[in-house]
Amino acid sequence: SDEPKYNVPVAVKNSVFSKVPTEPLIGKLHLVCTSEDAMTDILDLHPEVAETEEFIDFVAGKYLPNGGLTVCHRYGGYQFGYWADQLGDGRAHILGEYINSKGESWQPQLKGSGETPYSRFGDGRAVLRSSIREMIASEACHYLGIPTTRAAALVVSDDHKVWRDRAYCGTMREERAAVVMRLAPAWYRLGSFEILLKRNEPHTMKQLADFVIKHHFPDVAIDDPDKYVKLYLEVAYRNLDMVATWQGLGFTHGVLNTDNISVLGLTIDYGPFGFVQHYYEHYVPNTSDDAGRYAFNKQPGIILWNLEKFAEALAPILTDDQKKKINDIRAPLEAYVREKITQTYLNKLGLEQCRDGDAALVKELLQLMQQTMADFTSTFRQLAEVEVSQLLDATTLESKWSLAKVSKASQWGQWVQKYRDRLEQEKVSDENRRTRMLKVNPLYVPSNWILQEAIADAEKNDFGKVRHLLKIFKNPYEVNEEAEKLGYSSQPPNWSFGLKLSCSS
Ligand code: AMP
Ligand code: MG
Ligand code: MG
Repeated sequence: SDEPKYNVPVAVKNSVFSKVPTEPLIGKLHLVCTSEDAMTDILDLHPEVAETEEFIDFVAGKYLPNGGLTVCHRYGGYQFGYWADQLGDGRAHILGEYINSKGESWQPQLKGSGETPYSRFGDGRAVLRSSIREMIASEACHYLGIPTTRAAALVVSDDHKVWRDRAYCGTMREERAAVVMRLAPAWYRLGSFEILLKRNEPHTMKQLADFVIKHHFPDVAIDDPDKYVKLYLEVAYRNLDMVATWQGLGFTHGVLNTDNISVLGLTIDYGPFGFVQHYYEHYVPNTSDDAGRYAFNKQPGIILWNLEKFAEALAPILTDDQKKKINDIRAPLEAYVREKITQTYLNKLGLEQCRDGDAALVKELLQLMQQTMADFTSTFRQLAEVEVSQLLDATTLESKWSLAKVSKASQWGQWVQKYRDRLEQEKVSDENRRTRMLKVNPLYVPSNWILQEAIADAEKNDFGKVRHLLKIFKNPYEVNEEAEKLGYSSQPPNWSFGLKLSCSS
């Protein structure tokens, strides 16, 4: 027919979105799981709706509400430090906007729903394992207190197959295609602006910036002559606040390209991420990241680097004076994130104020953990479980597996003394310290080995563990008997040591 074909790779010009129909999953479909809270609190959907064929077909991209239209977002990005040109929603379709019963605006998006003008070399699909990882981790991160996109539902097909390279296999394998319905107030990335700089489309950039300010940054006045500087600062602070939460929880994103950095400061595009287990600062979960550009300890610096690229992108809509204002804020932003991270760790240690020498107190503990291969999550949690007066008591230490490790460091006694002195200065009772620490040091994080077990079952159409994990991670700060039985706060199994993931998804 004369209809243009939308679902082929093409260099798109002068637009922020393209109208693109979904290519539904074919074959026998299963509902893998839903997030009950995302369904009810965000989408106003009764959990029973999820069991209907109509809903499963909807997630699979088969139909839209009357008059509905799906769009794909055009963006670019710097990948591993190099400009990659046009990227965009290569396998995702935005279903529009939903204003829920609380008056909140959300944009449901299908991921894995077919080819688009932005698919490049990809097939427009997502496999079950990566979809499960995104589903569980994004919901878990939300409950851990990390700003993040959400996920509402996941559907897999028995018959719709795609070919993928699997980490360490070196060979292609057939896998089943799946679709996740993700949720965010909006899906703009730093790369949404970068592509408009590189393609020389300042007019479109102005339209985008004004639209984003109007709809997503209520604190920036649309008639403020400095509105783009203020937009920049808001985006910067939101992303720096986000990375501080990552550092406090051991979350390592894995692929911090500028196309994976949300303008709203949300954790976005869960791929080869990982939570640090036995602590080492240069933890790299992604097999493709040979140089460790996106290692755990590099994340704050990389967010700052990405924000510099964002400043470069905005240049066409800034005056020279405004460019200078943004340039002058570089050092303060660096100081801001450094202090924010120190404060996050002090809170993890039950301290509220920040004093001279506190950064060293934190650094020394992390060094002891690294020397002894103590577990990141469990060491902090167990520091909260034990009275400070017991921190040098051999029997107490032996009962806490990760403290047992860190206490083997020769400097442990000295560190405990420093910690006690510091607590005394702040005059917190030990009960108070422990209560506060239990609220910010989780028992459970979605470690790769935990996800791997749920994925293995799901590959056999047993979705019990996936659903169970979604429940456990709703309360990661409280003891859960089932999770304890499964060993989720115990020493990870040996096979999980050094587990890494590829970008292939
Ligand atoms: P990522 O590294 O996962 O953020 O992906 C980079 C770009 O590749 C994004 O624009 C994705 O939409 C696109 N992409 C990734 N996987 C696929 C796929 N299977 N089919 C089409 N596009 C993809
Ligand atoms: Mg991405
Ligand atoms: Mg991706």
